[in-house]
Amino acid sequence: MTVAFLGLGAIGLPMARHLAAKFTGTRVWNRTASKAAAFVAAQNPAQGTQRAHTPAEAARDADVVITCFPVSRDVEALLDGPDGLLAGLKRGSTLVDCTSGDPATSKRIAARLDAQGIGFLDAPVSGGVAGAEAAALTVMVGGDAATLERVRPALGAFGKRIVHCGPVGSGDAVKAVNNALLAQHIIGTAEGLLALERAGVDPALALDVINNSSGRSNASMNLFPERVLTKAYPRTFRLALLDKDVGIALQVAQEQGVDAPMLALASQRYRDAHRAMGEEADHVEIVKWLRGEQ
Ligand code: NDP
Repeated sequence: MTVAFLGLGAIGLPMARHLAAKFTGTRVWNRTASKAAAFVAAQNPAQGTQRAHTPAEAARDADVVITCFPVSRDVEALLDGPDGLLAGLKRGSTLVDCTSGDPATSKRIAARLDAQGIGFLDAPVSGGVAGAEAAALTVMVGGDAATLERVRPALGAFGKRIVHCGPVGSGDAVKAVNNALLAQHIIGTAEGLLALERAGVDPALALDVINNSSGRSNASMNLFPERVLTKAYPRTFRLALLDKDVGIALQVAQEQGVDAPMLALASQRYRDAHRAMGEEADHVEIVKWLRGEQ
């Protein structure tokens, strides 16, 4: 199997590293070319990893082309032109988009590729940068089940749990709802802890109680002890991207006629924090903004 990977960002880079170790001749492309050059230089030369100068060059002759950009429209924008993905993708190959994308754009991309005999799967991932480094990501896949079986060995390079969610767009939808819950847990935990703190309760003690009770979540068990109490706030997943995800979840709910005031409020809070804190803040840094520390 010949594999190409495009988008060596925070999560894409460790995913690409696993692919390059598993498949010989893996090609990588990144918008900022120096990152792709540094990536290739860091791989085992025996694996023959190569840097592509254009998306078309990356895709040429590949069986599986994997993209991981901020939003689906970034993928769509790279399809056309002499350097675009469609100029390189061969009939019978598959484009697997690991972007946490939006269902409508994924469906448009899938239809365009289908017309040329190329498969498409939306396959966003969960597990964070640490999960990517440990090759332990959950991969939520939308699209044709037989196509997924063909590309499963590639996804298995970085994914531990690879789940077929339904037709094209359903991987995106599941991922967006998951991340909207993450956003709600972060906001709710921040509000509750601030109230307890002002009432004179030690937040570490409060978290310990919550984490042994029914209010616990990934936010209370991991993010708050490791990042908020310590004030470490490492930058692993940009707040701007979580804002985008909650917006997608809200859009999915609205399209399905679901009354979702919690999603709407979480989306509003993340949009406001994004505006106030800019593009580079981490998703957990909204806690500073909610506490009026930003
Ligand atoms: P980053 O912002 O760290 O990286 C984005 C990557 O996409 C970079 O390689 C960047 O290139 C490239 N890029 C950005 N815009 C464009 C464009 N218009 N055209 C071509 N390339 C572009 O994002 P992450 O790696 O964190 O996230 C990628 C996707 O994965 C997102 O959809 C995110 O929601 C999702 N995700 C992220 C997780 C995380 O923990 N970080 C966890 C799970 C999912 P350049 O180097 O030139 O800037």
